[in-house]
Amino acid sequence: MCSLVEELVNKLLRTCQMLSRHQFTPQLQPVVGLGGFREICNALPGEFFYLLLVPLKAPPGHSFHLERGTEGEMPQTISRLRVDLECMCTRERCLGDVLCFLHHSDYELWLQQEPSLLQTLCSDSYLDAQKTAFWLQALMSTACKSEPWAATHKLTVLPTTCSCKMKLTSTFRRSLCIELILAVQEEDSSTFVPIG
Ligand SMILES: [Zn+2]
Repeated sequence: MCSLVEELVNKLLRTCQMLSRHQFTPQLQPVVGLGGFREICNALPGEFFYLLLVPLKAPPGHSFHLERGTEGEMPQTISRLRVDLECMCTRERCLGDVLCFLHHSDYELWLQQEPSLLQTLCSDSYLDAQKTAFWLQALMSTACKSEPWAATHKLTVLPTTCSCKMKLTSTFRRSLCIELILAVQEEDSSTFVPIG
């Protein structure tokens, strides 16, 4: 059951990635089911709840830097994700599919390229967890409609502020609640840190 849910979510994430391929938005990686992050419990009879991590990678021309808060802060607020722009001149010369954000004028960029992540899902220079959650929810809503099983299963994106929660209801009236927590991998470590 767990692997089926992961497979379903990964398929939806690939569709989301396709839908946003022309934008400089975070790149959605396959879900991670780490023991501590994935829990299954009976919420109601016939209803199951899954919690999964979705790692994010920086889009081209951007880099992510996890900044730790000071001791004493609540665990939810100990880290923020700073977003920096990186030079893409080499890619621009070799592939010709992007303009370097650092070495073109704002006017050239505005005319020819989608805005950078800093202009869309960030507040100041930090990834905004709420904007990013709303972005994923909107993509997921579209991705769900394109699935072949949409005729027999109803997948609804539920309103949340810092994650993406979905409810899948089958014709047998069994339902699955899936919550996707956005996270980034710590540099030089296998640890994933939730954002928001
Ligand atoms: Zn450059």
